[in-house]
Amino acid sequence: MSSTLSPTRVVSFEEARHIVEEHALKVRPGEVESADLLAARGGVLAEDLVADRDFPPFPRATRDGYAVRAVDVEEVPARLDVIAEVKAGDWPDTSAVEVNRGQAVSIMTGAPIPQGADAVVMVEYTTALGSRSIEIQRSVVSGENFVPRGAEARAGKLLVDQGRRLDHALIAIAASIGKSRVKVFRKPRVAVLSTGDEVIEIGATPGPAQIRNSNSYSLAAQIEDAGGEAVRLPIARDEPVRLRSLIEEGLQCDLLLLTGGVSMGKYDLVEQVLAGLDAEFYFTGAKIQPGKPVVFGSCGVDTVVRAGSVAEDRPLTVLQRRYFFGLPGNPVSTMVTFELFARPMIAALAGARPEPLKFLSARLKLPIRTKTGLKRFLPGVLSGEFEKAEVELARWQGSGDIATLANANCYVVIPEDRELIEAGEWVSLLVQ
Ligand code: AMP
Ligand code: MG
Repeated sequence: MSSTLSPTRVVSFEEARHIVEEHALKVRPGEVESADLLAARGGVLAEDLVADRDFPPFPRATRDGYAVRAVDVEEVPARLDVIAEVKAGDWPDTSAVEVNRGQAVSIMTGAPIPQGADAVVMVEYTTALGSRSIEIQRSVVSGENFVPRGAEARAGKLLVDQGRRLDHALIAIAASIGKSRVKVFRKPRVAVLSTGDEVIEIGATPGPAQIRNSNSYSLAAQIEDAGGEAVRLPIARDEPVRLRSLIEEGLQCDLLLLTGGVSMGKYDLVEQVLAGLDAEFYFTGAKIQPGKPVVFGSCGVDTVVRAGSVAEDRPLTVLQRRYFFGLPGNPVSTMVTFELFARPMIAALAGARPEPLKFLSARLKLPIRTKTGLKRFLPGVLSGEFEKAEVELARWQGSGDIATLANANCYVVIPEDRELIEAGEWVSLLVQ
């Protein structure tokens, strides 16, 4: 669909998301780097995490109490001789500590179960009869209150596939297999280009009709949260020459996000300038609110893949497709369209496996009336304790209302075919 004029292609939300996901499957992550475990947080694993030994490495008591033979406590109360104590970190000498008939070993959570024992009686169900004898008041079955060696994972088992983002849980897994450094993919560099004659840098004093550039900052934060590295470009005026050169600069990054200038106004030049760069447009609008004018496409960019350092070795350049999103300039539209469309592309460029959008559900506090035809993602306030979550729409003045976001903590999803949603109905929420 290469053209100099940009043909209009407005698709449903689902189709738009699908188109992005299809293209996300085609992109490749950057080089592999090695990083300190904590510094790699938020990065995408470029290696598998494999168990270096059995988990647990020994049969591990999960309660404080007494290691016993279950047959010895089938009838309770039962009186057993306490022959030793094993605490966490002790390695009971198997020749010296073996639980035989009528015997028990005092044991602590996290300690290895001694030979001969096949269960642990919790200390709460015992009474000490002096220091060498114990009365057991409750039976246990064989296998109770300990985890057998290797039951969680055998040595050599794949624990985590590459392509997962390192969160605190995966960091714990990496730590437990002794990886102080991990291999991760280089974070994709995502250019952010805000456009608009009225938009000024946040350190400047605004004139009466000027607006501070909040979008570059919200986007930079979202990009980093999505596993990318934000590259903020200077603000582009609504003027094609400079806009074009900034777009070309942005296309040197792994992905380009533009904000503003994609609506139908006389000075909305983004699509026109992109078309002049032989952009291919996959959609030029989605049936959503906020964010209807969102644009997704790509440009061919000559990219140096080998520097010409050796005499005859000329630099090798190939034409690579670089994706871009034109996000509408209204701050809430920018944020929502990022979450719906840009995030999965950044995740893919970061080397992460595709993940579906996740929605929560809550009951609606007050009825919602809307027009049909657009799928809506409206700022909402989720409240209520525990499983009694309820949600209502945040009061707002439309998608330019940044102040309302201080109170909102989710987006309420309203299907395109609903005119009225009653109080008490379950609604889907997008939470990031
Ligand atoms: P546009 O998408 O260019 O039509 O802009 C829509 C609205 O968003 C206008 O009211 C703009 O002033 C506002 N806007 C555009 N860009 C930004 C930005 N970078 N930061 C904050 N507001 C913006
Ligand atoms: Mg504008």
